[in-house]
Amino acid sequence: MPMLVKASIACHAGAGIAVAADPALWPWALGAVALNHGVISVTGLLPRSTWLGENMRRLPASSAARNEVSITIDDGPDPAVTPAVLDLLDAHGARATFFCIAQHAAAHPALAREIVRRGHSVQNHSDRHSHRFSLLGPKAMAREIAAAQASLADITGEAPLFFRAPAGLRNPFLAPVLQRLDLQLVSWTRRGFDTVRREPSNVLARLARGLAAGDILIAHDGNAARTDDGSPVLLAVLPGLLARARSLRLVAVTLPAASHPRGDDAVAPAGAAASASP
Ligand SMILES: [Zn+2]
Repeated sequence: MPMLVKASIACHAGAGIAVAADPALWPWALGAVALNHGVISVTGLLPRSTWLGENMRRLPASSAARNEVSITIDDGPDPAVTPAVLDLLDAHGARATFFCIAQHAAAHPALAREIVRRGHSVQNHSDRHSHRFSLLGPKAMAREIAAAQASLADITGEAPLFFRAPAGLRNPFLAPVLQRLDLQLVSWTRRGFDTVRREPSNVLARLARGLAAGDILIAHDGNAARTDDGSPVLLAVLPGLLARARSLRLVAVTLPAASHPRGDDAVAPAGAAASASP
């Protein structure tokens, strides 16, 4: 059970006991419970926090020791952007993890399959990417994630192992749902704020500054991040980012490859792995 959930149960129980023992303590008990709810709300707004449950913020040490990084690309697939992303990744022998919105994948199933066919990974970024995701109750949250899980597994033939919350926002109901579905929550080590800053050189500088083995980077596909003139930020940032990774002798691999490498094909360049597979 996440640390903050345990602390919250203790806080509520303590408040109840205190008021039962001495009803005059009710303002203090109420204050403690209100403060506790405040802490839960603020923690849900911190995508990299571990107080609400396990949260993968960087690659495992074994992966970092292999000089690996993972580029994660959220909110696709998008037929206007993703094919060019795949070509750029191929050109640099890099692999990436696509946290897809399941309904987008269902609208473009061939594209979702193409992502996997080219050696990348499709993972769970919820069914609809509702902006109210962090306000959902346990049943609605479970439905949203399970629907995406079933749909993505059906489309790509591979059940996702990782989940990223829409906008990274959570509540205490998420951890038990992920545990039940055997999904690992993933946030990131570095982000370029590509949906907010949108200026490619600025986004690239944020992602590349201090780039090191074990980093998980986050960027956005499709319409989620566009420059002022409407072109996709990702396409402008990716070549510089991949060149920077190469100059540091870092290998861009998928999250499953970083976490559960299967022999040499987990880190081989795209072309080599494709010809080595049966
Ligand atoms: Zn998203």
